[in-house]
Amino acid sequence: MKQSFLSHIAQTSDSPIGLEISHAKGPFLYTTKEVRYVDFISGIAVSSLGHRHPKVIAAIEEQLGKYLHVMVYGEFIQKPQVEFAELLMAQLPPQLNQVYLVNSGTEANEGALKLAKKHTGRSKLVAFKNSYHGDTHGSLSVTGRDVYRDPYLPLLPDVHFLNFNSFVDLDNIDNQTASVILEPIQGEGGIIPAEKEWLKAVRSKCDETGALLIFDEIQSGFARTGKLFAFEHYDVIPDILCLAKAMAGGMPMGAFVSSSEIFKAFMYNPPLNHVTTFGGHPVCCAAAHANLKELLDGNYINRAVEIERKIKKRLVGKGIVEVRGKGAMLGLELESWELTKAVVESCFEKGVLLGWTLHSNTLVRLAPPLIIENDLLDEVLETIMESIHTNVSGIQD
Ligand code: PMP
Repeated sequence: MKQSFLSHIAQTSDSPIGLEISHAKGPFLYTTKEVRYVDFISGIAVSSLGHRHPKVIAAIEEQLGKYLHVMVYGEFIQKPQVEFAELLMAQLPPQLNQVYLVNSGTEANEGALKLAKKHTGRSKLVAFKNSYHGDTHGSLSVTGRDVYRDPYLPLLPDVHFLNFNSFVDLDNIDNQTASVILEPIQGEGGIIPAEKEWLKAVRSKCDETGALLIFDEIQSGFARTGKLFAFEHYDVIPDILCLAKAMAGGMPMGAFVSSSEIFKAFMYNPPLNHVTTFGGHPVCCAAAHANLKELLDGNYINRAVEIERKIKKRLVGKGIVEVRGKGAMLGLELESWELTKAVVESCFEKGVLLGWTLHSNTLVRLAPPLIIENDLLDEVLETIMESIHTNVSGIQD
């Protein structure tokens, strides 16, 4: 199996983790060699309710008995789409009252950028250094790391990268700007939260110039940060909100939310100027509805806050620079790359799956499922502390 995986599945690095998964349940992954791992990164911030949550599975099964794909997006009334949209809108400020459903995070950002250009009639895009918005051409054009962009140049023109959290840089937002796209908490950049006053200043600058403010909450959304959406920490409402990852309990789905007024740009000149075949797939929508309902009913938003408190309290000491982030979207910054590598590897050997973020080599990503119970959480934190302790001494000796 491993040889076929390496030969026939297009590879994205020369060192894939290469676990062969037999099944997954709750916070655990099980391999075909019958080794159990605690998934402490939730498949990169996806499985917030753990793997195969029974309510999500039941909703998927129910929809399987009715219909799968029936028509391209936007033509037929599909109850799972409408029910999910209703529940989502009920959680959002009144101006975020329509949703466009897609299949992934990068597609959500693609749609948001196009919507902003069409609505404003402008082309200039403002984005931030160290950001990550996805790997299709439009999203990559606003991703703030040259090493990923350079091989694919030329990308979209008229993209301006500013320093995250810099007030002076905001002067670059002007009345030529279609949109300003940012993650309220940069994920792949190394779990870097925006400062509250700065985000408010971004909002004001957008209001002044007519640029649309896009929040990419693909990683920070759906209760991960201790609010349903990270923008609630800031009292700043975006014009367009991009979502994916934890949205559908492990099914592939994304969305961008805005106002019906702004979305009019997609209806005319010409009609059907942004369509998708599979976006809003009924099975994914059924899963998303069950997932969101359970996140709310099960009080998982507060659970994310408790998880943050426990992790920040336990992970202190030699070798640790800081634990930053909000809720269960945390980054453990260690003193060196060697230590970070050693800790990730030794936890892996002890059955705890941790990860890196894309743009940092001294940061351990911590994104546990919100269903994790305290005993297991304590156990994992103990394993991490032990690994740090052993490797700090090992590296210094
Ligand atoms: N935006 C952010 C903030 C992300 O973290 C990611 C995925 N890591 C994406 C966009 C892209 O999402 P997808 O992989 O579903 O295209």
